[in-house]
Parts: sequence; C-alpha cells; structure tokens
Amino acid sequence: MFQRVALIGIGLIGSSISHAMRRRGLAREIVGYARTPATRATAVRLGLISQAFESAADAAAGADLIILCSPVGVYGAIAQEIAPRLARGAIVTDVGSVKGAVVRDVGPHIPDGVHFVPGHPIAGTEYSGPESGFATLFDNRWCILTPPDGTDAAATGRLRALWEAMGSNVEIMTPEHHDMVLAITSHVPHLIAFNIVNTAAHLGRVTDSEVIKFSAGGFRDFTRIASSDPTMWRDVFLNNREAVIEMLGRFAEDLSHLQRAIRYGDGDTLFRLFTEAREVRKGVIQAGQDTAAPDFGRGGGMTPASKA
Ligand code: NAP
Repeated sequence: MFQRVALIGIGLIGSSISHAMRRRGLAREIVGYARTPATRATAVRLGLISQAFESAADAAAGADLIILCSPVGVYGAIAQEIAPRLARGAIVTDVGSVKGAVVRDVGPHIPDGVHFVPGHPIAGTEYSGPESGFATLFDNRWCILTPPDGTDAAATGRLRALWEAMGSNVEIMTPEHHDMVLAITSHVPHLIAFNIVNTAAHLGRVTDSEVIKFSAGGFRDFTRIASSDPTMWRDVFLNNREAVIEMLGRFAEDLSHLQRAIRYGDGDTLFRLFTEAREVRKGVIQAGQDTAAPDFGRGGGMTPASKA
C-alpha cells in the first residue's frame, strides 16, 4: 500500500504498527526515527525498521507515509522540523491520544501538496518502548481519523484502508468530538487511576504494605492503569484540558451524589446506580471491546489488556 513508511517515534504504538504492517506486507520499506540511540538500535535489531535515522527530518525525507508516534507534546516541533523534507503527495498522520491540539500544532506546518490526516488507534497497553509492540494490538479495535475540513478524500481513504488492513475498524469524526469522547472513556479513567493509587500510597508505610498485600481487590486493576507512561499522560492532560475539565466536573457531581447516598443510608439509590453501571459492562463485552473472562482476559497478567 505504501512504498516507504517513516515512523517518527518507535515505542509501543510505533513498533505495533511495524508488526501489523509487516504481517500483511503493507509497506515496501519501513524506516524510523527515535530520540535515543538505544531505541534506534533496538528497533533495527528487532527488524521493526530497516534503517534508523538520528533526525526526524532525515527519516521523513522521501517517505510517502509519515506516522508521528511520539508523545503529543513534541508533535509541533517535529512537524516544523520535517516540513521542508516532505515529498509532494506524501501523507502525514499521527497516533496521538488527543486530536484538537494535534490539528492546532501540526496542521500549520504541513506544506501545500502534502496531506495531513490525524488519527488515533483506540488500542494500547500500559507498557512502553520498542519491545512492547505486537502485531495483533489493533485487531478489532477502533481507529478514529479526524481529517480537517478540505482534506483530500483520497488520502483519507488510503489511511482508512491502511488501518483496516492492520485489523482496525475505522470511524471518522471531528477533533472536538474525539477529544470529548476520549476524555470520558480514557483520559478521566486514567486520572482516577493515578489519583487513587497515589491516595493509597500517601496513607503511610504500614498501610502501603497492606495496599500491596490486599491488592487482589479492585485496587490491583487501578495500579495496572496507573503504571502507564508518565510522559504520554502528562502530554494528554496538557493537550485536552477543556474536555477533561468538563468531564471531571460531571464526574465530581456524580460522585457527590453517591457520597450523599452513602451518608444518608440511601440503599435504593446505590443499588440503582450500581445496576446501571453493571449494564454498561455487558455492553462493552457485547461490542467485542473486552472479554468476559474473570481475569479480564489477561491470562494471569501476562497478556497486555486493551486500553487507549
Ligand atoms: P512510547 O512507547 O513511550 O514510545 C514513545 C516514542 O517516542 C519512543 O520512540 C521515544 O523515543 C519517542 N520520544 C519520547 N520523547 C520524545 C521527544 N521528546 N522527542 C522525540 N521523540 C520522543 O509511547 P507510545 O505508548 O507508543 O505512545 C506514542 C503515542 O501514541 C502518544 O502520542 C500516545 O498519545 C499515543 N497512543 C498511546 C497509546 C497507549 O496506550 N500507549 C494508545 C493510543 C495512542 P526514545 O525511546 O528514544 O525515548
């Protein structure tokens, strides 16, 4: 489907894209850039890329598809750097977990004759780095594309076909809609996980050990989510501020409602709200977005679970 693909950043998502492309022979050649020599060497050793470049601009030169796979906070600087080297007709896309800020930061640098089609695979794990990727990460997961107004329909179509060939289902929406939906389905849940793990950790040393010892309860699953990459998540919250604050406001109101029901012993309200929440879980399983296995399909914690 593409002659030369340049991966700008080769961590979990970049390496999974390489695996998924090579599984189906979707690119004649995959080259890449990563910030550190260690990641570049690992990526070549694992066969994720045939050539590693020390600059993003060198990697992007001559590529017909450039995929930004680094933390979203550096996309603007990378776009500025690669812009003069982009080939006419090339497609620039990304995998960032926020979309409005990416359109804002990358869009202005894209030269005439180059297509910019932002994207976000709703798939991931709490692991990072080039060794954490795997070919099936995107299978039966959604990938959202947010092409700005006036984007070449053929370029969007090529990217849709690529993600479908990598196993995903594709949906197109505006960046604003994406950011609102992901704020509640991914960003706020991660914030809650980071917060509850820290609240427990701050309780003190004795309690800390009990936190570990008894973590087979709900807490354990929060620790998995809270072990996600701090750089990636810092950049998500700095770049999806409005939507996250809106959803946090709603969350806080609903939490107060629960708190009030507990304070006044209102069991009917608690039962009704927990029953409603339980129904949502059934919907997630029916939609094929998780398994009904008691261990969340993680096979004792060895298989990465899907999250975005
Ligand atoms: P990752 O495993 O931590 O890999 C990040 C890559 O970016 C590495 O190659 C790293 O290079 C490079 N990088 C880090 N800081 C950089 C900087 N300041 N300048 C240039 N390159 C830098 O991250 P990931 O999980 O693949 O996430 C990549 C993107 O995918 C993010 O934008 C994230 O929002 C999005 N995403 C993530 C998930 C998820 O669950 N993880 C899901 C969907 C989308 P070095 O290794 O050399 O430092």
